[in-house]
Amino acid sequence: MTISEAREKVFSGEVKLRQIVEQYINKIESDNEEINAFVYTDFEGALAQAEEVQNRIDEGSAGKLAGVVMGIKDLICERNKPTTCASEILEGFESVYDATVIKRLKAEDAILIGRVNMDEFAMGSTNEYSKYGAVKNPNNTEMVPGGSSGGSAATVAADMATATLGSDTGGSIRQPASYCGIVGLKPTYGRVSRYGLVAFASSFDCIGPLSHNVEDAARILDVIAGFDERDNTSSHREKSDYVHAVQNPQKNIKIGVPEEFFGEGLDDEIKKSIEDILSKLEAGGAELVPIHLPHTKYGIATYYILATAEASSNLARYDGIRYGHRANKDEMVDELKLEEQALTEKVAAAVGEEKIALQKELAMMDSPLARLYKKSRTEGFGSEVKRRIMLGTYVLSAGYYDAYYGKAQKVRRLIQNDYKEAFEKVDVIVSPTAPTTAFKLGEKLDDPVQMYLNDIFTTTANLAGICGISVPAGTHSNGLPFGIQFMADAFEETKVLNAGRLVELLK
Ligand code: GLN
Repeated sequence: MTISEAREKVFSGEVKLRQIVEQYINKIESDNEEINAFVYTDFEGALAQAEEVQNRIDEGSAGKLAGVVMGIKDLICERNKPTTCASEILEGFESVYDATVIKRLKAEDAILIGRVNMDEFAMGSTNEYSKYGAVKNPNNTEMVPGGSSGGSAATVAADMATATLGSDTGGSIRQPASYCGIVGLKPTYGRVSRYGLVAFASSFDCIGPLSHNVEDAARILDVIAGFDERDNTSSHREKSDYVHAVQNPQKNIKIGVPEEFFGEGLDDEIKKSIEDILSKLEAGGAELVPIHLPHTKYGIATYYILATAEASSNLARYDGIRYGHRANKDEMVDELKLEEQALTEKVAAAVGEEKIALQKELAMMDSPLARLYKKSRTEGFGSEVKRRIMLGTYVLSAGYYDAYYGKAQKVRRLIQNDYKEAFEKVDVIVSPTAPTTAFKLGEKLDDPVQMYLNDIFTTTANLAGICGISVPAGTHSNGLPFGIQFMADAFEETKVLNAGRLVELLK
């Protein structure tokens, strides 16, 4: 059910909002065990909200999202609900405040029915790195749903909520939308407040909607977008009329077709379908303009240097002291004592240079506090998050900073410039969202580089800070859906929504 269908039903009085909520509760109860999208549900709260919103509907004072039931990715803070980022390290943590996007959704009467699964701290492309276990793709439960917003995408695809919020740092809204056959919108950096979004890579992170169609994405963006004094990277620019853009799409748009996005590694059928769509759009009045984005080939490397660097800094706050998981202190103290004893005995028995080395080691032993940090972090973070923290720490280290972090910053600017130049000539740039359809659960788990390469078409939009959308483009002969991506310049969300709508209209 789309947002307009839901609103039509409740505003005409055909159904009570309570019935809609109950329908979703039933669906979650029957399907979630297998799909594993929701990690926390608040059915009572949702039903209570339904009563309140129903009253406002009856009184004629209901908000723009009255009738809408949503799931929220487990890294966006919701007051008095668990916010764990699918990580052991935030085990038991409940947020004490609402993120700005949550406040705005609530103010427009959206009903928030639960928290959805994700890759730990949004690091991943398959939703397999989660303390709650993998999410399954509702189109074929042997396949990954994509990630990191895999729970957000699967929830919508399985109709367990009207829409969801996800986050996109390098593709995490668009890629799972592509794999699950739904719409995913990554707004421009700074268009939506990040206040209350748990940080992964602060200069990339964006909150956005995953939904059944482009209009729903526009309706949600309309509510969550706009300046927020609590996020000083949020923009003062006025919002545009996103819903109007979808309802009145222009057909004579200029679509940039970058050669770099249609080369090696792209599935033939996906390529062919996108070319078909482009010919149809051209026949309908669009102009196709061949363009070049020459630095695209550095996108993955640049992204994985900068995003891990920022992550290593952001994740330093999880020390086991202030919140979340803490290692067993008594065990840790005993362990430390035993180590100290053993080392002291070794020092006593050693002579010469070996003795001096062992004495140094003894002097350098962890303090109980340092050991508690280490142990809590070792136990609390999963393997992929640890890999990112180590990579990020390495690229920021004194001896390598210029060679990696500094250089990647410069390449980021070159990538931005590529887009800037291109958008002087075209309204939107088209590409596949991902090189393939969803793959089998477990298939890429032991090859991180293969996993990272999957983000080849999505990371550059985050590097450039621009907006992008993934819209269903068709079904592969393997039975799985795949998406087409449109990108537009910063704050030109109406253009990607417009282009996305044109694709929907071809069906
Ligand atoms: N797959 C990418 C990564 O693992 C993107 C993640 C995201 O957008 N949150 O970093």
